[in-house]
Amino acid sequence: MKTAFIYTDAYLDYDYGPTHPLRIIRLKLTYDLIIAYGLHDLPSVQFIPTVKAEEKDLAAFHSEEYLNILKQGNNGILLGDASLYGLGPGDNPIFPGLYDWSLLVTGATLQAVDFVAAGKGEIAFNIAGGLHHAMRSRASGFCYINDPVIGIKRLLSRGKRVVYIDIDAHHGDGVQKAFYETNQVLTISLHESGHTLFPGTGFEYEIGEGEGEGYSVNLPFPPYAGDEIYLWAFEEVVPELVHIFQPDVVVTQLGVDTFYDDPLTNIHLSILGYERVLKKIKDLAPRWVALGGGGYNISNVARAWTLAWAIMNGIELKDQLPESFLREAAKMGVEERELREHPKARHDIQNEENKVEMERVVHYIKETVFPRIKR
Ligand SMILES: [Zn+2]
Repeated sequence: MKTAFIYTDAYLDYDYGPTHPLRIIRLKLTYDLIIAYGLHDLPSVQFIPTVKAEEKDLAAFHSEEYLNILKQGNNGILLGDASLYGLGPGDNPIFPGLYDWSLLVTGATLQAVDFVAAGKGEIAFNIAGGLHHAMRSRASGFCYINDPVIGIKRLLSRGKRVVYIDIDAHHGDGVQKAFYETNQVLTISLHESGHTLFPGTGFEYEIGEGEGEGYSVNLPFPPYAGDEIYLWAFEEVVPELVHIFQPDVVVTQLGVDTFYDDPLTNIHLSILGYERVLKKIKDLAPRWVALGGGGYNISNVARAWTLAWAIMNGIELKDQLPESFLREAAKMGVEERELREHPKARHDIQNEENKVEMERVVHYIKETVFPRIKR
């Protein structure tokens, strides 16, 4: 098994702002933990420095007028009509270099795609990617350029069949919308219900349209859903869908904002549940382009994505975090001393209502979606 990790410290040149929940330092913290565990120094592993995408790559999905606005915003100054494109104070600020940042993130996703599509290896991971909310002409939910869509489009242009699995706490709305009317991509999103969380979409009855009918799949979870109900629903739906569709490549968005102590969401996954999901995905994916995503507790991000990278490489990590990492991480407020450390009291809130609700959703998907999907 050959794998690639795409990364550059140049990510740290960019900053969404002092009060913004998406802290780019989480990428560096993840990289540091991977290095501290020695997960860069394996014969089957390549570390590939990120190279910016080209402007024409972004145009594979985004409109010219929107890209022009982003380019103009690259100097960090707010333009008069930026708000028409979802830009401005709040979720999608105009910060210096935002266009360059987008080129870097998208470039890393395309490098991961090219590595896998060219058969250089089976798995590639871009922790900076997974910006799944960006729309064709609008920034949304901290996302300016939709790198998953652009990466999947490149896979399609190479004749690959793609299943997209999105385990971020938020619905992968931008990716779903991009492929809503095609049967070339099967999108599956597991997320907190749109009744209680941004972006307010991703209900089970959103199944695609026209030729794409049946090729958008949504598993909306009620707040406080924990490991058991999440894994049960995943197991009931995802393996069978992948089995029927027979993809060449699985693209995943691996957001870690599903954890009980994430500050922005209400799903109650533990890192142990996340680990089990990642192992299932690895078993399902013939080839795997893995992208990052949300995650606003930086200790969770670093530990979960390091664990993900270990799983991709078939390595079992010991739980004791390396001392060299702990010293640096303490400066950023990281208190956990173990990889899988997770307070046990709160992450298993289950109730009968949630179980009944998810049984209903799973039943609906089996009745409505399964019969419509073809190899
Ligand atoms: Zn999210």
